[in-house]
Amino acid sequence: MSEQQRYDRADIRRLNAVSVLNQLRVNGPLSRANIASVLGLTRATVSNIVSDLIEASMVTETEYDAGRTGRPGLLLNLNPNCGSLMALDIDIDRVSVLMTNFGQEVLSREEVEIAPNCAANETLAVAAGLVERALEQSALSQLKCFGLCVAWAGLVDREDGQLAYGPTTGWEHVPLKCTWEQRFGMPVYVENEAHAGAIGAHHFGERQGVRNMIYLSLGVGLAAGVFVDGVLIRGKLGFAGQVGHTAFVDNGVNCSCGKKGCWVTEIGASAVLRKLAGAGVEISAYGASSVDWIESAIQKVQAGDSTVLAVLSDVGEQIGLGLARLVQTFNPSTVIVGGRLSELMRYVEPSIRAAILSDTLPYMTDPLDLIVGTSGDDSLRGGIATVFDAIMKNPMIGELAKE
Ligand SMILES: [Zn+2]
Repeated sequence: MSEQQRYDRADIRRLNAVSVLNQLRVNGPLSRANIASVLGLTRATVSNIVSDLIEASMVTETEYDAGRTGRPGLLLNLNPNCGSLMALDIDIDRVSVLMTNFGQEVLSREEVEIAPNCAANETLAVAAGLVERALEQSALSQLKCFGLCVAWAGLVDREDGQLAYGPTTGWEHVPLKCTWEQRFGMPVYVENEAHAGAIGAHHFGERQGVRNMIYLSLGVGLAAGVFVDGVLIRGKLGFAGQVGHTAFVDNGVNCSCGKKGCWVTEIGASAVLRKLAGAGVEISAYGASSVDWIESAIQKVQAGDSTVLAVLSDVGEQIGLGLARLVQTFNPSTVIVGGRLSELMRYVEPSIRAAILSDTLPYMTDPLDLIVGTSGDDSLRGGIATVFDAIMKNPMIGELAKE
């Protein structure tokens, strides 16, 4: 047999395994006969693939009773405990890690605060400590970690695995993928934080699977992840979605990116703090780029503070006017305002909605599904989905079994 034939056979085996795994993910539990019938494969082929997957612990087999007249049969399902998945979110003022099993049930979650303007190497040292602790947890549960996805609020070069440029932090060309893959001995993926949030919202939650969606990540920074016809728009270098640094107001305030009047300077966390202070609202803030004041602002809104509510309504209008431009550009069915500031902005959802409707062509928002405020874990969830999808696309049969 030639090298080419061997390669082709291995490739077909892998593709068939991917198809079997996807059937089990979507429709499981299933019998071998069900799978063969749906995929148009022979029983022998399915049996061979399944025995590889069972040997690799990716699939489990359970006996079921077919009733008095039937013989006991065997049903297959994905094994939720064949390994673990990890996601890390590096934000301006904190680093968070989430670990789940392969069934995407949470095993551990940890968060550590970091000083604003912390240097890249210091932040990454803290982040690496979190990864190590999560890996220890995984080992205690006897689960091998399949990989880690790191989400970061900046321009991320996924090919080279670099944090290419952070408009807020000023970090440039920080290598991550290669060094961490060597250090931790597992695949490492890097992802823009808004893209990860969009993937998380697309993969989990009440709007999962929505094909045309704008996900706005609103925090200290501002960026969007946009799904068009079911595909996340990345662009030539993967940097698509930097909507926070589009010109929004004339003679606006200086932005961290070097320009003036960017959208983020009107609706980002620093902008909301500035506007609250301008209205005479006293609010405790750890630092200019930190968002730990959100909780106290929420308390003021809940206590009926009309000044705070008026400021937030104005910001909500600015959010809506910017979103209207995106809605006209991408024609989504769903707009999700996520990120850490979204918890606060949910109180002015009517202002956001009204501004979108006022500045969009007729029929484009008929109807528009707007969700303001999410769990705040969208980017971590998106990271988990990224690692899960990578395994589903390349189950590495045989290699897993040898572990
Ligand atoms: Zn800017």
